[in-house]
Amino acid sequence: MQHIIDRFISYVTVDTESDPNSDTTPSTEKQWNLANQLVEELKAIGMEDVTIDENAYIMATLPSNVDHDVPVVGFVSHFDTTPDFTGANVKPKIIKNYDGGDIVLNEEQNIVLSPTYFKDMLQYKGQTLITTDGTTLLGADDKAGITEIVSAMEYLINNPQIKHGKIRVGFTPDEEIGRGAHKFDVAKFGADWGYTMDGSQIGELEYENFNAAGAKITFKGKSVHPGYAKGKMINSMLLASKFVAALPENEVPERTSGYEGFYHVTNIDGSIEKTMVQLIIRDHDREKFEARKEKVAQIADAINDEYMEQFGEPIVIADIKDQYYNMKEKVVPVFHIIDIAERAMKELDIKPLIKPIRGGTDGCQLSYMGLPCPNIFAGGHNFHGKYEYVPVESMQKATEVIVKIAELTAKIYNG
Ligand SMILES: [Zn+2]
Repeated sequence: MQHIIDRFISYVTVDTESDPNSDTTPSTEKQWNLANQLVEELKAIGMEDVTIDENAYIMATLPSNVDHDVPVVGFVSHFDTTPDFTGANVKPKIIKNYDGGDIVLNEEQNIVLSPTYFKDMLQYKGQTLITTDGTTLLGADDKAGITEIVSAMEYLINNPQIKHGKIRVGFTPDEEIGRGAHKFDVAKFGADWGYTMDGSQIGELEYENFNAAGAKITFKGKSVHPGYAKGKMINSMLLASKFVAALPENEVPERTSGYEGFYHVTNIDGSIEKTMVQLIIRDHDREKFEARKEKVAQIADAINDEYMEQFGEPIVIADIKDQYYNMKEKVVPVFHIIDIAERAMKELDIKPLIKPIRGGTDGCQLSYMGLPCPNIFAGGHNFHGKYEYVPVESMQKATEVIVKIAELTAKIYNG
């Protein structure tokens, strides 16, 4: 346990915040600091073919220790942290034998991590929690995943009596800004399938995520002195509000859950002559997803029709772009990869929690790039903010799940 704690702390105390406004990969120079540290560590524990490319993508191999052919299994996680909250100067707190009560993260600023609000905490009574000091995020997303993968590889190297096929490890930058998979060389990775260790609560196993699109709707207008505006002025902000009002009012993130999709307006920026509305469109079901995009286009078209005569050209321009798709389509044909993960958890007395992701993962992009890649829990909670915490026992269990998947795969493919 202490070994896992030390390893985790050695990662979270290195600031690796990514930056959506940067065009480079990695998006921030400082991600190299942890990337280089990880390369050295992978070599030190005895991994082979440890490589890092010009974009800071790290890959490494644990060779097979059996004679028969076993599919190559990959484990993937990301070393950047979200730009939503600072990841500089993380000072982790270790709460041993958690008593189920409030945890004062920061006395001065009165920041308290409380099970009254975060009920999930109660299931970890008696365990060791790692929290923040209330001024930063923790970075368990996804340095918990990296800790688990490195620890599992180290365990397999030190315990050669456990038989396994070839295992590949991949660590990526910039997942939090949606680019973790972009420059991932799937052919070089060479795995038959993989798992991202990037879920939350212990037991999570995810292979369904949203289909996702982003839309930029531009409304034009005509500015005229308000005193002389009758019949002449067109206020683009009012067109935009008409558009937003025409979206189904209950199909928004704050009123949906499970498999329910939504429209989510993320930004409105306007003046009389030009207003831009940005929204994201999400649905697990591909047909419903297409219908949602169609709906957005239709609302825009209706406004165009209404103003065509007066404005003389389309007054609304709808630019709708697909972002990612549900990995289910790519995972169902190889469903044994879910079965193996589920069986690994059950053999370790972990209750599998299989549920749809209301978002995307690196794995969904990788799945469409040819590497089917469901997501497994890494153990942390309350990602992307100061209330983030991770139970060490969950990191331990995730490490065991990796070891067990390696072992089961070799066993299942033995004749
Ligand atoms: Zn993550």
